[in-house]
Amino acid sequence: MLYKTTLSIAHTSVILLSLITAISCFELHLPQKVSHIVDSLQYTCGQFLQKQQIFALYNKQNFTEIVNQNIKGIEERVLSELLEERLENESQNDYYTANSQNWPIDLDQYSESFVIRITSEDEFIKYLIFKEAKALHISIWEQSVGLIDLKVDRDQMHRLLYNVESRILERRTRSVDSPVSEYKVQLMIGDLPQRIYETYPSTKVTSLQALGEFPSFQNLSNAFFEDFRTLETIYDWFEEIQKEFPKLVSINWIGQTYEGRDLKALHVRGKHSGNKTVVVTGGMHAREWISVTSACYAVHKLLQNYADGHHKEAKYLDKLDFLFVPVLNPDGYEYSFNEDRLWRKNRQETYMPRCFGIDIDHSFDYHFVKSEDLPCGEEYSGESPFESIESEVWNNFLNRTKEEHKIYGYIDLHSYSQTVLYPYAYSCEILPRDEENLIELGYGIARAIRKSTGKKYQVLKACEDRDADLLPDLGGGTALDYMYHNRAYWAFQIKLRDSGNHGFLLPKKFIYPVGTEVYASIQYFCSFVLNLEG
Ligand SMILES: [Zn+2]
Repeated sequence: MLYKTTLSIAHTSVILLSLITAISCFELHLPQKVSHIVDSLQYTCGQFLQKQQIFALYNKQNFTEIVNQNIKGIEERVLSELLEERLENESQNDYYTANSQNWPIDLDQYSESFVIRITSEDEFIKYLIFKEAKALHISIWEQSVGLIDLKVDRDQMHRLLYNVESRILERRTRSVDSPVSEYKVQLMIGDLPQRIYETYPSTKVTSLQALGEFPSFQNLSNAFFEDFRTLETIYDWFEEIQKEFPKLVSINWIGQTYEGRDLKALHVRGKHSGNKTVVVTGGMHAREWISVTSACYAVHKLLQNYADGHHKEAKYLDKLDFLFVPVLNPDGYEYSFNEDRLWRKNRQETYMPRCFGIDIDHSFDYHFVKSEDLPCGEEYSGESPFESIESEVWNNFLNRTKEEHKIYGYIDLHSYSQTVLYPYAYSCEILPRDEENLIELGYGIARAIRKSTGKKYQVLKACEDRDADLLPDLGGGTALDYMYHNRAYWAFQIKLRDSGNHGFLLPKKFIYPVGTEVYASIQYFCSFVLNLEG
């Protein structure tokens, strides 16, 4: 009897529960077909929070509407900010008022483009954005922890947001447990032509002589650092600095680029030869002009301080040699001056006609990964290691000068995001030797920068910055890993200013402050390794 009652209670509960369930289902007015889909997805009525999305999947038309609805607000906001920025500039700024004959390059090529920053803590979303951006041939300006900056036009932005939003919706429909993914889209640069225009020197100067006559090297250099300079002007300045400091400076010829330009280094050394060498490279990516000026500025400051009798520099040049390569990608750099300010790679031919350039920073042999990018892509690594002429001649140079340059430290300058990166870039699973010291040194560099100008740089493992474990081809074949593994005892990549107002398009007023930061980094670096030596 007792058994029967229990059963009956249980039975009643089931009926009651079904009734409640039936009512709630009824209240949702789900058509039968949708209910069927719901069942097949093993949804229970209690989880009908996803109702809208299930409808959407069931009815493609509706799905499109929901996605469009979700991205409409983002698009409207970004585009209205963009319009506002352009209207404001139109009345007062030179890109609009100057005769297009006087433009340094064709600026109309950027008139449809703008730059957006998408931030998200969700790895899935970041991965999604990255993949969709690649599929849509969108130029990725920067991708670091929690953010990705993209140069887009209206159509690309719409398609990107549509695809990303669709995938997010699908994922949430498939699994109710999937987290609610959030991402934020901000306009970073609305008026790209104007910003690009502002980075070019106000008067076109193709040689150092054209800057004018100066009473001293110091005056000449002051004028030199007032603006971004063409390759020829920079190489002229190499000659001048060598003339000014003949006992300390020699110009090393590294090799020739694809287009036949010289790749040159400034070799700075004190009284003793055969010292340990600190290598500083800049301009590996053509559009990162601030890395070029900063490398030059560091040479200048090192020599000037030494000549002025500073104690620190006397010690550095007594114990260390320096090899500065301010423009590691001369062809790309010239191309960014004369054709496309936003060019990144070198300029050599690839197996695809009309697709030029290899990303030098993916072209080294240490954990080289053939990138997913085709030759037209901005991160195309080439088909095999050292296919980029510049990485090949650099490697040859280091081999043939092994005795002369005993490489000890390496700093590779890039932009942007204000980050100090230590090895490895290719994977986070392998720990670098001496990781503790690398971290200490990295934080020391960041601190030295903060002391010099007040700017905050973060310190990261390069693989984290590049999301190398998620996207392996992004971390493969870097100069950082190659130098660290094969050549240098200590190695860093520093991504210079800024953190996202100008991106690659820093105006010339930043040349001095960022140069100061780079020189503070080098000072700290040298002091650290010399102290370690005792
Ligand atoms: Zn770079």
